[in-house]
Amino acid sequence: PFDVLVVGGGPAGAAGAIYAARKGIRTGIAAERLGGQVLDTMGIENLISVPYTEGPKLATAMETHIKEYDIDVMNLQTAAKLVPAKEEGGLHEIVLENGASLKTRSLILAPGARWRQMGVPGEEEYRNKGVAYCPHCDGPLFKGKRVAVIGGGNSGVEAAIDLAGLVAHVMLIEFDTQLRADAVLQNKLRSLPNVTIITSAMTTEVLGDGAKVKGLIYKDRNTEESHEVALEGIFVQIGLVPNTEWLRGSIELSERGEIVTDMRAQTSVPGVFAAGDATTTPYKQIVISMGEGAKAALSAFDYLIRLVPA
Ligand code: FAD
Repeated sequence: PFDVLVVGGGPAGAAGAIYAARKGIRTGIAAERLGGQVLDTMGIENLISVPYTEGPKLATAMETHIKEYDIDVMNLQTAAKLVPAKEEGGLHEIVLENGASLKTRSLILAPGARWRQMGVPGEEEYRNKGVAYCPHCDGPLFKGKRVAVIGGGNSGVEAAIDLAGLVAHVMLIEFDTQLRADAVLQNKLRSLPNVTIITSAMTTEVLGDGAKVKGLIYKDRNTEESHEVALEGIFVQIGLVPNTEWLRGSIELSERGEIVTDMRAQTSVPGVFAAGDATTTPYKQIVISMGEGAKAALSAFDYLIRLVPA
């Protein structure tokens, strides 16, 4: 069995595996896709001490770093089930989609998350070419330009407030008849001079010139009329979905499906830790995921040295 098994090969999983291996304990990492969301990212400008890098480059660097250590790397492996140890000190089991099973004394879950997409024509084509999902990441790319934020929940309204300080104009588009964000955020948003709020509107298409976004079309749900808006950026803020469907029933998840962790990255099951975008830890960012992954590994080590094997 492993001492530490990591599920997930994004920034959280990579950090967890490296920190664990540096303790000289038997470490494995199983990932559907080594690199994670980083692979889908273009420019990264907020990984502290690296002023600029690109997703695929960072993913390769993480993999190289993992391979510096004696870590059993199982890429292209999807976990389908977690069977927690029956008694404290026993072995946890991860059953893979291919039927194989991995046993481990401690576990770090880092399966990440995915942004919910609008699913309209042009969205996929112009991803990273004007269609963005992360205002903290890509906001500065739209300095002085016109953008739309899709979604009037807390994350959409926060994004609109954030972007309004950087861009020329923000149009916030909400499907419902009213915004769903907290009242204080709505008040703040309404006080900003360069924000237009449109409710009862459904985005139906992303427009572009082949190279980048040029605008969008939304349908007014009251009149059924379509409107075309010229702009350079679209931030989609309709939810971040944790990749935790397979954990339902074996571990405590929040209402949103996030793995509930405490300040030491401990989950509801002793010996099972979690890190990164899949957890209740706020702010989904690379630097935060890496920090949380390191923390989870140190907590796992702490757990192991106190463990009386069952
Ligand atoms: P992920 O990166 O999502 O990795 C999850 C890992 O788990 C993957 O290896 C995946 O294959 C694996 N996995 C999932 N389910 C299973 C399973 N059942 N079995 C096995 N493996 C599984 N953040 C920044 O800080 N700066 C940026 O500039 C930035 N830009 C971004 C741009 C885009 C387009 C996107 C989508 C995100 C961006 N982010 C950025 C956010 C950042 O990518 C995430 O916060 C970070 O990748 C989260 O790391 P993670 O390890 O928790 O999860």
